[in-house]
Amino acid sequence: MKNFPIVKLARKLISIPSISPLDLGCQEIIANRLRSIGFTIKHININNTSNIWAFRGKGKTLTFAGHTDVVPAGKKKLWKFPPFDAVIEKNILFGRGAIDMKGALAAMIIAAEKFVYLNPNHKNRISFLITSDEESNAIDGTKAVIENLISQKEKIDYCILGEPSSTKVIGDFIKNGRRGSITAHLKVFGIQGHVAYPKSFDNSIHKTIPFLFRLINHEFDTGNNFFPSTSIQIVKIRSDSNSENVVPDELSMVFNIRFSPVINVNEIKHFVEKILFKYRIKYSIKWKVSGYPFFTSPGVLTKTVTEAVQFVNKIKSRLSTSGGTSDGRFISLIGAEIVELGLINKTIHQVNEQVKIEDLSILSQIYQRIMDKLLI
Ligand SMILES: [Zn+2]
Repeated sequence: MKNFPIVKLARKLISIPSISPLDLGCQEIIANRLRSIGFTIKHININNTSNIWAFRGKGKTLTFAGHTDVVPAGKKKLWKFPPFDAVIEKNILFGRGAIDMKGALAAMIIAAEKFVYLNPNHKNRISFLITSDEESNAIDGTKAVIENLISQKEKIDYCILGEPSSTKVIGDFIKNGRRGSITAHLKVFGIQGHVAYPKSFDNSIHKTIPFLFRLINHEFDTGNNFFPSTSIQIVKIRSDSNSENVVPDELSMVFNIRFSPVINVNEIKHFVEKILFKYRIKYSIKWKVSGYPFFTSPGVLTKTVTEAVQFVNKIKSRLSTSGGTSDGRFISLIGAEIVELGLINKTIHQVNEQVKIEDLSILSQIYQRIMDKLLI
């Protein structure tokens, strides 16, 4: 099994410690493979981030998207094998990025090689969008490439993002959307004073409590058939007068809201500011949207992907929109239908990240089946 082309490629990529946003040559390996089967390669490098846009053929475009960067290995001594040695034991390949997502990249490349070999004159266009900035701040990566492609009037019709969507077997879950994410940095202002003289101060903590209670109990929406309801989590509260007998004049807090497409950013902001006003709170607030929601209605792409999973792995996929944000939020801006389909996400970002070699092969066959259906 060690000599399977897919295993060789996955091991080669894993052995490069490309901690986000560095690529350290992974994309050169991928570009060379694709170039040798007739792809045109464009490197779009920005600051420390490397990106590739590669394509072959003309017509409707099916894009495979992914990233060569990985998260840090964590405590190396907790790993069974060194995280960048790509060791195989009992048909399991260990290493940082094995699942997220160098294994899936290897599956895509091998699928493309087989597909092109069998269908050198395919009807539609196959392309790859690969970045090294998915795990860090995601500014110079897929977002920048998509902006570049939109400015060149490029089109992507269908996109398979190789993020690890599966939970127990390959393809049991595929993602056809993700919630959006917005974070608020709120400061509440009061008046400092001695605890014994309540008439002379305005306690910033006391002012905030009824507001918080109202906020965390609010039902923004009830979601819809595809999305769970919008949810809020307070992630930080800080207030301190550095004394036991002085009330603090300021409180700062951070909260994050994961929102479905049922509600928009302005409605969220408006609601929060309305209750701040209602409780007569003096405040300043800074909002940061880290991702807008995206959603692909069940259609050509979801049908093709679920059929391919059924054909190769003999199981019925379920569509899901759970989890954090992904680069799908940027790719949706070009108007593509997007589905995330990748390896089993159990060990992602953990020590001893690992993939069954058999799973690499199954995923690659599913990718190839999708190419068969959409490109010829
Ligand atoms: Zn990933």
